Amino acid sequence: MNDLVKNFIDQAILRGKRAVVVGAGKSGLAAVRLLHVLGARVRLADRNESLTPDVLGELAGTAELVTGPHKPEHFADADIIVLSPGVPVKRMAEVLKGVEDRKIVSELEFASWFLQAPVLAVTGTNGKTTTTTLISEILAHAGKRIFTGGNIGTPLCSYLLEGEPAEVIVLEVSSFQLQNCRLFKPHVGVFLNFSANHLDYHENMAEYLGAKLTLFARMTDEDTALLHESLRPMLEKTFGGRPFTAARVEWFGPTDRFEAPHLPGEHNRSNIEAAWRAVRRFGVTKAQAAEAIRNFHPLHHRIEPVGEVDGVLYVDDSKATTLDAVVAAVRSFDRPVRLLMGGVWKGGDVDAFAQSVRNRVVAVGLFGGSRDVLEPPLSKVFPVTWDETLADAVRRQAGEAKAGEMVLLSPATSSFDQYSSYSQRGDDFRHAVEGLE
Ligand code: ADP
Repeated sequence: MNDLVKNFIDQAILRGKRAVVVGAGKSGLAAVRLLHVLGARVRLADRNESLTPDVLGELAGTAELVTGPHKPEHFADADIIVLSPGVPVKRMAEVLKGVEDRKIVSELEFASWFLQAPVLAVTGTNGKTTTTTLISEILAHAGKRIFTGGNIGTPLCSYLLEGEPAEVIVLEVSSFQLQNCRLFKPHVGVFLNFSANHLDYHENMAEYLGAKLTLFARMTDEDTALLHESLRPMLEKTFGGRPFTAARVEWFGPTDRFEAPHLPGEHNRSNIEAAWRAVRRFGVTKAQAAEAIRNFHPLHHRIEPVGEVDGVLYVDDSKATTLDAVVAAVRSFDRPVRLLMGGVWKGGDVDAFAQSVRNRVVAVGLFGGSRDVLEPPLSKVFPVTWDETLADAVRRQAGEAKAGEMVLLSPATSSFDQYSSYSQRGDDFRHAVEGLE
């Protein structure tokens, strides 16, 4: 266990207290273990009725498990309620009625109480994982001991329990996690971009923006806020020139400061610039950053070339779950694009999207869900076809594509209509492409 946690056990702030953790995923289970170590009486609540106490591992029999629909009595005696990332507190409003707001925290907030190393946190609608990973690779290359996690990889609670103490904590943070933060603040906060997303969850864009800005709300003038220049008009409009953070603000945009042979597109030049400005706060030299950036390859399912057949390039961008991400992907290549889209719709202006890519896209192949949302506006601008499955859509585009074109899976949706994750969807695409060969 990390020494930091030992200090807190001695302070006994949670000893004997009732803690309820919502969500039995990786982060929730890590929160259960940390709360237990701190002496709390822990209850884990998950809607999945097929879960058994085995899910609690060595704490089965010590911690309590309640499954099925959440009920007010599961929370009424709680001193603290820790929400797993992705648990929409709004949808729990009924059962949490009467619970004081201050008792409800995200796993990120809870774990952050115990951190001592400086935190570098990245948020934004698109590019979070790429930029977070790039930052980590640069810091590691420069010899820093880092922990990378949050929304990706290892939950912060697991770091506290098992991780080697790091010099810098690098976190990807989502709007869901930020919405239930009270004290959390990074030393360096990066806001990459902002566009329609999760409108199936957030009330409206203003609420979604408010959640993102929580990242900067408690920063001080010793901290740095790195904001993409595209956010400036929106923030000026929202705040009318009033400051929304006490941090030192730096605006950034795409530059050619570094060579990045494997990261195409202007959006990546912005991601790289953000990463550089973030890491230089921690003493990294430009030469160290340059080498790490030069060797950085796209992460799986993020504008990742997976094959070329008969002169047609196939690119997996399954992680693109918003229209802005699709625009970034389409603009990253000079080739005419056959675009594969479809899945579970999360919101966005399809007409405006169609106009912004009309010079580059030669055909749209829809597959699976959201045909009703996508087909009417897209077919005003492009030839549009629809197939039940992604594999059929790939075969159809392959049959029609000319050498020099590309087939791009950049679906603008989440994958849960047909897949358990975006990575499964991307793997299915790759298999379909391999089938062509
Ligand atoms: P996130 O973690 O925010 O979902 P990722 O780094 O996984 O973002 O990238 C997902 C997709 O978003 C990429 O494949 C690309 O299509 C798009 N993308 C990445 N960076 C940006 C950016 N700065 N602006 C717009 N789109 C981007």
